[in-house]
Amino acid sequence: MSIPKEAYEALQSIVGPEWVSDDPAVRIADTKGGYATGVVDVNAVPPGISIQPETGEEIQQIIKIANRYRLPFIPTSTFFSAMCAPTIDDVIMIDLKRMTQLEINEKDLYAVVGPGISHSMLQAELFKRGLMTFVPTCGAQSSVLANLVHCGDAVIGWRFGLGYRRVLAVEWVLPNGDLLKLGSRSYLKDYFWGEGPGPDLRALMRGNEGHEGGLGTITKIGVKIFPFIPEKLEPKGVSPRTTLKLPENRMKWYNVTMPTREVAVDFMYELGRCEIGLLVSSIPPLFRYVARSRGKGAAGFWENWKKFGENADKNLMDIRVLCFGWTSEKQLAYEEKVLLDVVAEFGGTASAGPATDESNFQSADAVCSWFIGGRFLSEVYFESLDCGLHTEKGVRELARLRTPPLADTWDTPMLWAPYEFGHMGKQESLNYVDDKEIDALRAHEQACREMDLKIGGYAIMEDTRMFGKAWHNYDQWMKKLKATFDPNNLSNPPKPLERLLYEE
Ligand SMILES: Cc1cc2nc3c(=O)[nH]c(=O)nc-3n(C[C@H](O)[C@H](O)[C@H](O)COP(=O)(O)OP(=O)(O)OC[C@H]3O[C@@H](n4cnc5c(N)ncnc54)[C@H](O)[C@@H]3O)c2cc1C
Repeated sequence: MSIPKEAYEALQSIVGPEWVSDDPAVRIADTKGGYATGVVDVNAVPPGISIQPETGEEIQQIIKIANRYRLPFIPTSTFFSAMCAPTIDDVIMIDLKRMTQLEINEKDLYAVVGPGISHSMLQAELFKRGLMTFVPTCGAQSSVLANLVHCGDAVIGWRFGLGYRRVLAVEWVLPNGDLLKLGSRSYLKDYFWGEGPGPDLRALMRGNEGHEGGLGTITKIGVKIFPFIPEKLEPKGVSPRTTLKLPENRMKWYNVTMPTREVAVDFMYELGRCEIGLLVSSIPPLFRYVARSRGKGAAGFWENWKKFGENADKNLMDIRVLCFGWTSEKQLAYEEKVLLDVVAEFGGTASAGPATDESNFQSADAVCSWFIGGRFLSEVYFESLDCGLHTEKGVRELARLRTPPLADTWDTPMLWAPYEFGHMGKQESLNYVDDKEIDALRAHEQACREMDLKIGGYAIMEDTRMFGKAWHNYDQWMKKLKATFDPNNLSNPPKPLERLLYEE
């Protein structure tokens, strides 16, 4: 089957002929995203059509046509994740980059964004107004809306909370084309509040890690924004050594080293109790070596990383803390004093870092993840910092069995990112392979999930077929929800029931 001519013409009449294409070049370009490219999308096929609507009303009409002709569809915003790559024929790829609606409510501290607004676009506008938002570690080029409904993980979550906490009211085109309005958008036609008045189904929209386009298209969200300091962050340098210069009277980095992972976790809990810092995160030695390889390429990285590995102390854990004089310079002095006292109490060392940033305010440095091996995939757990000690140990043991071909991390600590002053913690272990060794990566992923079932690990993007029985048969509930919301099974099937990695 291919896309019927009448369906194609009907779609053209909705958005205009220049915004629909079945050109092979366009279709191929719309086949693969970013995260986990070459790993989860090995069975990807080009979509039948790519379409670029501009408004929510146009999306409703597109979905009605899709239902009439029984054509599957997938929404993508800036498409920096390959998790939604099409795997069946005749998919309508709904590319939402033209939906750049943006309103900023400076008084009530929220912004309303369409899926085409990236973090860098929003952040740039907010900085002009003395306000700020977060930027996820995948980079500021990603869509604010898609990132928040899909993942929304940024180390500034130490103070601001994980992404889903910042989603307010929502406008959502369901898989049958109906419009669902959540929170204050429903009765008050405003986006300032997610809980109400009106229905709040944000947990369904978002779940653990988004539905990957399997439950329709979110067309607008309200997102919480924050006051910032009057000082400006100044871009400096020439590529590949560019950075943002931070105002030293308000922001100061500290690099802390703790003797073991366990002590480091307790140290981070204590910082949370003291409620200091704009962000706190462990830094895997691997990340430091990647950062130092700017301009040197993969060969430069591997030369230095191997030298380091031969003598690495596998227990030491590095933590970065950004002290922040949010209200005044006096607050910065207070935060530094508290930090240094806590470091001493836990037997660590601390040194001040350069007042620059490449990752947290306006970044795109995550793309360097690919140069280590060509392909990468993370094991990610959102639970507690303590839980991360168990999951990292298990993942490391499994990785050791497959190293090589998994790139050697020398058994050094991976990433712990505490959120909400340590009330929640992400633990992420990054795996890298050459692009010819994807099977090893997939086998490792499967082994990690089997381990999770044994130890009670709570990994993201789990497959309902694998975890349903162990988790109160929630797969049955998901099936019912999918059938209710998507009776024709067209919204990126079989999402969110099945993920691309798990094989029965
Ligand atoms: C190197 C690297 C590092 C990363 N690190 C992080 C990180 O630190 N934090 C983090 O949060 N993520 C991270 N990611 C994962 C991911 O890339 C991001 O979450 C990113 O925001 C997703 O890309 P996007 O915004 O372009 O969304 P897309 O790729 O366009 O979409 C993401 C998912 O949401 C669905 N979707 C998109 N738009 C809509 C919509 N309007 N309605 C309904 N569903 C929709 C898509 O079908 C897809 O499944 C990383 C990825 C890479 C490659």
